[in-house]
Amino acid sequence: MRAWGRIISGRAPSLSIEITRECPLSCPGCYAYNDEHLGTGVPLREVRDFRGQQLVDGVLALVDEHKPLHLSIVGGDPMVRLFELEELLPKLTARGIHCQIVTSAFRKIPAEWTANPHISVTVSIDGLQPEHDERRKPATYDRILRNIEGCKITVHCTVTRQMLARDGYLEDFMEFWSARPEVEKVWMSLYTPQRGEISSERLTASDRKRVAVELSSLRSRFPKLDMAESLIATYVDPPKSPEECVFAQTTETISADLKTRIKPCQFGGDPDCSQCGCIASAGLHAITKYRLPGGLQVGALYRTSHRIGAARRAMRERKARAAESLVEVSST
Ligand code: SF4
Ligand code: SF4
Repeated sequence: MRAWGRIISGRAPSLSIEITRECPLSCPGCYAYNDEHLGTGVPLREVRDFRGQQLVDGVLALVDEHKPLHLSIVGGDPMVRLFELEELLPKLTARGIHCQIVTSAFRKIPAEWTANPHISVTVSIDGLQPEHDERRKPATYDRILRNIEGCKITVHCTVTRQMLARDGYLEDFMEFWSARPEVEKVWMSLYTPQRGEISSERLTASDRKRVAVELSSLRSRFPKLDMAESLIATYVDPPKSPEECVFAQTTETISADLKTRIKPCQFGGDPDCSQCGCIASAGLHAITKYRLPGGLQVGALYRTSHRIGAARRAMRERKARAAESLVEVSST
């Protein structure tokens, strides 16, 4: 209900901040380091970023401006700014914000973070050890296992075409990570290409159908695979455009300079929505298909609320511009 209130008031309930441009990994297919990611011609690695008190104050200022209910802290790898996070997290949770840190776990995750119900840590693990270690060194399996000891984490795997070369690959992945006591949930996204992209990671339409069938079967055997049937089905029929994507419309993404808005969603650039495999987008899109008692579809209610919110936001922005003009006139 709080999220609905945010939508009707014309504010995004979720904020995602790339708190640093730095990452010790160089994963093939990384969207954050795609040259078109920011849409400004400047790649993420060259953007101005902050550290120390400037970063802490800058993030808090953004949060106080946007007042999100949920904050994703991403990068680069946000654990590069561990000391700043130690200062930020208590201040963010004290504001009632749920914080999600998305990391490669290249460095030790403080166990006390994951004991806090307002903080969740999602660790990206892309495939079984031989492939993962090759793609994501220095955040290798050995290192991840050491760095999550004593924590409660969500594993997030992005399924790429290479993982489908052998039958049973995803099942082996689930066997390994489900057995770990640190793992509370496993999420699987599918690789989302940019439009026109030719890459080894990109799945074909038949790959996507095959993964959906496999995930449906795996979820009955591995309760930690936290993915509803309706979400999995969305991977075969994702939102057709950013305008249809509730996730893109309800999440504001800001880059490491703490001002550039990344559009149309966290991928930036020109993502191919028809091949979207983002778990957050699929989850929200699936919810829009539900019918409320009385038969009204959640999606129809969302679109009406979003239109009201957009009108209110436009009015707020007009008033702010008018106030700025008055200040300029009175100071001349
Ligand atoms: S860890 Fe994430 S940000 Fe860093 S290179 Fe890999 S995909 Fe990109
Ligand atoms: S999250 Fe997926 S569907 Fe939504 S705008 Fe991005 S690429 Fe398109």
